[in-house]
Amino acid sequence: MHKHAENTTNPILRAKYDVLVVGGGNAALCAALSAHERGARVLILEAAPYEDRGGNSHYTGGAFRFAYKGVDDLRQISPEMTDSELENVDFGSYTEEQFLDDMFELTEYRTDPDLCELLVRSSFETAKWVAGKGVKLHPGLGRQAYKVDGKFKFWGGLALHISGGGAELLRALYAAAEQRSIPIAYRTPAVELIRQDGKVVGIKARSEGTDVEIEAAAVILACGGFESNPEMRARYLGPGWDLAKVRGTRYNMGEGLMMALRAGARPYGNWSGCHSVAWDVNAPPFGDLDIGDQFQKHNYPFGIVVNARGDRFIDEGANFHSHTYAKYGAEILKQPGMYAWQVFDTKVTHLLRSEYRIRRVTKAEASTLEELAAKLTGVDAQGFLETARAFNAACQTDIPFDPNILDKRATHGLAIDKTNWANPLDTAPYHAYHVTTGITFTFGGLKVSQNGEVIDLYDGILPGLYAAGEMVGGLFYGNYASGTGLMSGATFGRFAGAHAAEFAAAGMH
Ligand SMILES: Cc1cc2nc3c(=O)[nH]c(=O)nc-3n(C[C@H](O)[C@H](O)[C@H](O)COP(=O)(O)OP(=O)(O)OC[C@H]3O[C@@H](n4cnc5c(N)ncnc54)[C@H](O)[C@@H]3O)c2cc1C
Repeated sequence: MHKHAENTTNPILRAKYDVLVVGGGNAALCAALSAHERGARVLILEAAPYEDRGGNSHYTGGAFRFAYKGVDDLRQISPEMTDSELENVDFGSYTEEQFLDDMFELTEYRTDPDLCELLVRSSFETAKWVAGKGVKLHPGLGRQAYKVDGKFKFWGGLALHISGGGAELLRALYAAAEQRSIPIAYRTPAVELIRQDGKVVGIKARSEGTDVEIEAAAVILACGGFESNPEMRARYLGPGWDLAKVRGTRYNMGEGLMMALRAGARPYGNWSGCHSVAWDVNAPPFGDLDIGDQFQKHNYPFGIVVNARGDRFIDEGANFHSHTYAKYGAEILKQPGMYAWQVFDTKVTHLLRSEYRIRRVTKAEASTLEELAAKLTGVDAQGFLETARAFNAACQTDIPFDPNILDKRATHGLAIDKTNWANPLDTAPYHAYHVTTGITFTFGGLKVSQNGEVIDLYDGILPGLYAAGEMVGGLFYGNYASGTGLMSGATFGRFAGAHAAEFAAAGMH
């Protein structure tokens, strides 16, 4: 490409770059910082305006999954943790093998072993690298560990969360980019890859209503999946998915995926699958940055979930929420009217996370189950009462309840048994939450190499093209372990950035 961006007055779009990063979320920022660390001249293109920058990463609660051997490892990432903070906390360990087992089990052994191994085995180093960019982390108490007998005990991984969630993560990463004077063009969506002799040599983007062509030795696509695009959701995920609420950004329209496929990239992974959760039925169609992830309702393992007929339709206690929440959104979508109610009694109220206490919550409360049944909008009251009574009678209450372990306090003899944490609903007041399906992100993506290079249809490499974050296919199938999205974005962003910088420096373009 010899043509510069003549039709723009924006000087940052008229320059020529080593590495052009498309997207403004966690994966993009990590890619940009990593490329810049290797000496590359970097430009970031963000489709969103400044105030909406940061993609889905901005909406996260900051769960960040990495392998660790014990508290000494955690201190390397979060040196601010004080001894008194740690006194009543049992972090245990989360080995690489446990992380690999979780990924394999949750994806029913479909995850790409090479990509998964890269993700897991570099996760601790990546967490340290991210912390080194000014991102602060703290113990995820009350989210991944409950207080029992005065002590918090982590049940498996996710020991540290990013302090202040996605907002603080993005604040720190953007500050690091600004400190390095990496230029960022907002409201500048990439629309097409520019190729010459089979190599990617730049991007065509839209800026202020015109197309501009920006030249770069390498392009890193880190612009999300197609979760914000109802047409693509219906096309790939299936009927009804166009009606799901979007938990995060409105800007992940699948454009990066489509431009890569048009250039001959190889589609990879679970194109009919996505991450989706129980989400307040009255939440807006896209995420709201003032609320972040708090429309989610993740504590169903401590209650029951019923549909319009009043029937239970999932095993609420099949596993810890972090192992089931991302696939149960799809189960809600299959129910009549696409909604459900999560029902709890007062015995477990203290275990419910802050998301159950926000002002914008769709909640019913009553002092008897009969009274509650009448308040569950859209639910057959008689059906619900029959379900609740049968459930209560089936709980094996001789087995002690313990929220920190798979306690095997199950129901016995129901059409769908609850396999852990089965407490009868018997202590007033009763409270219930009306939820629908909220989509988080899509699983289908591109095939990438260990360096983040995009692979073509015939197993070759598309020279000059890289992908990171949600755009990487092959990691997640059907389900997902919480906190892996940010780790995947940071890992593949970091590797893609480093390799793209080397590719540019080697003058291979
Ligand atoms: C409510 C919510 C809570 C979550 N909680 C967690 C959590 O606690 N832990 C965790 O690990 N994961 C969590 N996730 C998942 C996580 O957000 C994603 O997996 C991860 O952040 C994706 O990072 P990314 O950089 O690939 O995409 P994004 O952060 O979505 O970034 C994509 C970027 O690309 C931009 N873009 C799109 N199209 C274009 C274009 N054509 N040109 C230029 N730019 C474009 C977008 O504006 C955006 O800036 C959560 C997601 C949501 C929605």
